[in-house]
Amino acid sequence: MSELKGECSTMEQQNQIPQTMKAVVFKGIDQLQLEEVPTPQISEDDILIRIDSCSICGSDVRIISNGYHRVPPGTIMGHEIAGTVVKIGDNQKNKFSFGQRICLGADIPCGHCTWCQTGSSNNCKNTIAYGHEYPGGGFAQYMKLDKRSIDFGPLVLLPHNDLSQDEFALTEPLACCVNGLEYCNMSIGKTILIFGAGPLGILMAKLARTMGASFITLCDIDPDRLNAATISEADQIVPSTDEALKKIVDKHTQGEGFDVVITACPTMKAQEQSIHYTKNRGVINFFGGLPQTAGNLSFPSNILHYKEITLLGSHGSTPRHNQIAAEMILHKKIYVKDLLSQTVPLEQLPKAIQDLKTDKTNLKITVRPWG
Ligand SMILES: [Zn+2]
Ligand SMILES: [Zn+2]
Repeated sequence: MSELKGECSTMEQQNQIPQTMKAVVFKGIDQLQLEEVPTPQISEDDILIRIDSCSICGSDVRIISNGYHRVPPGTIMGHEIAGTVVKIGDNQKNKFSFGQRICLGADIPCGHCTWCQTGSSNNCKNTIAYGHEYPGGGFAQYMKLDKRSIDFGPLVLLPHNDLSQDEFALTEPLACCVNGLEYCNMSIGKTILIFGAGPLGILMAKLARTMGASFITLCDIDPDRLNAATISEADQIVPSTDEALKKIVDKHTQGEGFDVVITACPTMKAQEQSIHYTKNRGVINFFGGLPQTAGNLSFPSNILHYKEITLLGSHGSTPRHNQIAAEMILHKKIYVKDLLSQTVPLEQLPKAIQDLKTDKTNLKITVRPWG
């Protein structure tokens, strides 16, 4: 992965921004189209960033395949973004400099409601997201950041560093993991079981290791995923069958179960299994959302009662989680480069979406809008 070059650092260069740019536009289910669209114009309160890298989220794949009411046809998608500041409105000149590298999270909260003011802005009811309602997304060459996204959004200024922008594009998914593990009080010496060995499950395992987990098991139903998960730093990588998991619990947890159990996959089966492998007073996090059609969960709830288990869910992240995630990548506390299966130009986004659907050895694919 080579370092991105061509940082824009002079007034002359900022004037060279073209009137139009390349973008991939979502036109409807399974329809993505590469188009030449107007480059966003900025006001004195905005900045313009050049998108260096935008990684494809599992949610992008789902939305392109199934549709989603927050992403109407005509949307430029993509929210796992790393970019470079190339134009600065007059009122933002004290905050940004030309050529400043940044990375973004997904959700821009309102900044004013109770959730926003008490540090849980991922629960803000008035949130908007890049690549969703926000006018602009990462599958384009440029994006405007407006005053709201600058003031309240998950925007991290990156100091000079030797990492690629592709790596910082993984800040957003890592931030969701930071939220997820923080919420279940993950800490030194705890054991953790993660269902789902996709990119999020692998990031969870890496983060748990950094946080001092004493024993990490990662499981999945898909053999390709299990093979790809060898990069995860988990102590055990096993099929998510009850037979395999019971063996692990007996051998490595004295039959007690795990302190923390995470479901990082979109299957109800994992949620139903999770309760059986959690230790007394342990915590389960339903981290992965389920499809709308999933129906209702059925499990023997008395287990929660007698084992004093805490069952919770988490979703998304706040600007603070994104700051933590970016710093962990920056300071090499989490190595994310090995999750990058492919980097592709904008033209190949439709093929990359297909690759992610059909070949589960692909973990993260990042799009470089400048090729
Ligand atoms: Zn994402
Ligand atoms: Zn709010």
